[in-house]
Amino acid sequence: METLFSWIIAGAVLLFFVVPYWLANKRKEAKARAAKARGPMFSDGPRAQHPQIQADYCIGCGACVAACPEGDVLALINGKASILNAHKCIGHSLCAEECPVGAITMVMATASAKLDLPYISAEMESSISNLFIAGELGGLALIKNAVNQGRDSVDAIASRISALRNGASDADVYDVLIVGAGPAGISASLRAAEHGLKAITLEREEIGGTVVKYPRQKLVMTSPVEFPLYGQFRKTTLTKEELLAFWEKVMRRADLNIRTGESVETVHKEADNLFHVKTQNNIFRAHTVVLAQGRAGTPRKLGVKGEELPHVLYRLIEADHYTNQNILIVGGGDSAVEAAMGLARQQGNHVTLSYRRGEFSRLKDRNAKRIDEHMRTGKLEVIFNSMPTEFSIGKTIMETENSFREIPSDFVWIFAGGTPPTEFLKSVGIAFGSNATK
Ligand SMILES: Cc1cc2nc3c(=O)[nH]c(=O)nc-3n(C[C@H](O)[C@H](O)[C@H](O)COP(=O)(O)OP(=O)(O)OC[C@H]3O[C@@H](n4cnc5c(N)ncnc54)[C@H](O)[C@@H]3O)c2cc1C
Repeated sequence: METLFSWIIAGAVLLFFVVPYWLANKRKEAKARAAKARGPMFSDGPRAQHPQIQADYCIGCGACVAACPEGDVLALINGKASILNAHKCIGHSLCAEECPVGAITMVMATASAKLDLPYISAEMESSISNLFIAGELGGLALIKNAVNQGRDSVDAIASRISALRNGASDADVYDVLIVGAGPAGISASLRAAEHGLKAITLEREEIGGTVVKYPRQKLVMTSPVEFPLYGQFRKTTLTKEELLAFWEKVMRRADLNIRTGESVETVHKEADNLFHVKTQNNIFRAHTVVLAQGRAGTPRKLGVKGEELPHVLYRLIEADHYTNQNILIVGGGDSAVEAAMGLARQQGNHVTLSYRRGEFSRLKDRNAKRIDEHMRTGKLEVIFNSMPTEFSIGKTIMETENSFREIPSDFVWIFAGGTPPTEFLKSVGIAFGSNATK
């Protein structure tokens, strides 16, 4: 009797828990296999750092798939971890950290994929001696990467600075000049103070970089990181304001020489073997330079009539400042979709999103699901295959598939990406691609 009862319990567990779990996994795997077979997403290869999986070691536990905050970079296919959307990897490295058998290593993209990225050595040095590149400018996104690279580049500088000074001490010459005060530049500046280097940081806008421009109260996801002049920073989720306040607190511990309102125009090594760094107002001289100016560059313009009008904007910080307005968003990336949904949430707004393609691609999973839901429930209108042709006060003329439409628009936001600082790097003489030699 007891044995029969045990068999019934085991059967029930199998029927109600194990079989549905197995079926769900099979469905997920079939979906992943189909997505991989569709091809184009997969052929859109990794841009910078991305996981490499040693299939022989993989035990198919799925820890890497679950760990990835970007959604569907990885999937289990035939019981093994496999790369599904390499281009969505932005270098969190959590898959590698979570893999219990060490089957995943993070590697850099191939030379062909990196042709638009500057050459950087393991010490973060560019193809020009003593000129370093840290943070997103080098191709790796994320705050933790920017902090690590800013810190490590200055460690490399500290190890060679005595030789560069060569006994001379010119009051006007800096040991290190850092361009940009985002996470990479802040970390580099703090590390320079820790090493007692004579340093200056030039920032064209505000201290904090891209983080300052995040929407108010945005939740920032990060990873534990060793922060100069502080030690291990362990928080993994905090608001933008909390993160900026933390940086400010640590920066107060050192007498940092950060000058805002200084936009660097040129960097050249002159006959005195020093870098001459020119801004609109000054020329600075330094033994070494760390370029930490990110890749946001300048927002790309559409070249459409009326684009210079004051209601046409390129950056949204405080969505809740806009209520009871007709709003047009132009773009189809994560920034455009997030702005559209944020503005649609505000009272009385009527939001239209115009995208030049026929469907969204390359959206984060979370955003793709949310925008679908917003469209289905009429919270905002999306006009695919459309392009603005003229902005004027209160309205925009839009070319759609087969007609022109007038869209009421008190405010317009354009999210057409940015012009990356590639031209600047080329003017400095920095080589591109991983095959570049010094
Ligand atoms: C909307 C959004 C949300 C994000 N969320 C997260 C997140 O949750 N977690 C995460 O880890 N990452 C996130 N990121 C990515 C992260 O913000 C970046 O990877 C990081 O800020 C890069 O740091 P950086 O110091 O290299 O460059 P930036 O932060 O871009 O800083 C570069 C600085 O250089 C200055 N500069 C540029 N050119 C010049 C010049 N010629 N002269 C002087 N100064 C110059 C700029 O003004 C800027 O202050 C997000 C990015 C965006 C856009």
